[in-house]
Amino acid sequence: MISTALNSGLPRRADLWQTTLGWQPGDDLWRQLEQLYHGILEGNRQLNLTRLTTPDDFWEKHLWDAYSGLWPWLVPDAPRDWAVPAVTRAIDIGTGAGFPGLPAAIAQPQWQVTLLDSTQKKVRFLAELADQLGLTGVRAIAERAECLGHQPAHREQYDLALLRAVGSATTCAEYGLPLVKVGGIAVLYRGQWSHEEAQALRQAAGNLGASVLATQAWTTPLTQGQRHCVYLRKNRPTPDAFPRAVGIPTKQPL
Ligand code: SAM
Repeated sequence: MISTALNSGLPRRADLWQTTLGWQPGDDLWRQLEQLYHGILEGNRQLNLTRLTTPDDFWEKHLWDAYSGLWPWLVPDAPRDWAVPAVTRAIDIGTGAGFPGLPAAIAQPQWQVTLLDSTQKKVRFLAELADQLGLTGVRAIAERAECLGHQPAHREQYDLALLRAVGSATTCAEYGLPLVKVGGIAVLYRGQWSHEEAQALRQAAGNLGASVLATQAWTTPLTQGQRHCVYLRKNRPTPDAFPRAVGIPTKQPL
């Protein structure tokens, strides 16, 4: 159980949110993020969820990083043609300890957020954690992305797909785009970003029915790490052949 009286030691850094992302978590949201931190620390005692557990690491590499990719849907003056429905259906593929999906659900309580991971134990933990945090719009599913992408209840059903640290960019595109509706967006969280990766992704995205909408470069505010968020817009249905069979998207990336 997550205690409600928290002294998490998680630094708030309101100004830093504002100067970097042009947005900052309000009081209620911050309280939930502190609870999230506690919940993850508690879960980490039994499950190998994340090694980013110090307050600074958690703040920068989990929270700030998650919100950097969601920036277009947090700030009031976001580009208009990036608009998503009020009740956005989002899926976090390979969510692990719930990133970036749980911060997304906390900041956007009206969204319906699906957390997908192939590891049953993590998914069970995430479902309990979402419940404890009162996140009624969250569900957690244990499945491989290659399988979920062919299930009619999920294929082309999501406005947004979020993928962080799940494989190469082209592998992520193959996992994510079959699940995204035509008109929807896949957000790929990347670290360094090379010309070669960009070229390979452009080609793979084209084969999957999408194109690169934008690439946003970030420098993380505490340790000055390089990050890139690549946004893919789905323009037409993904051919039925994708995603390929389990394991193929990683072994033979597009
Ligand atoms: N996205 C989280 C983050 O950035 O902190 C977790 C990243 S962790 C390195 C990768 C996660 O993806 C693992 O929890 C793993 O079980 C999951 N995963 C890898 N391949 C997958 C697949 N094909 N389908 C579903 N989950 C997958």
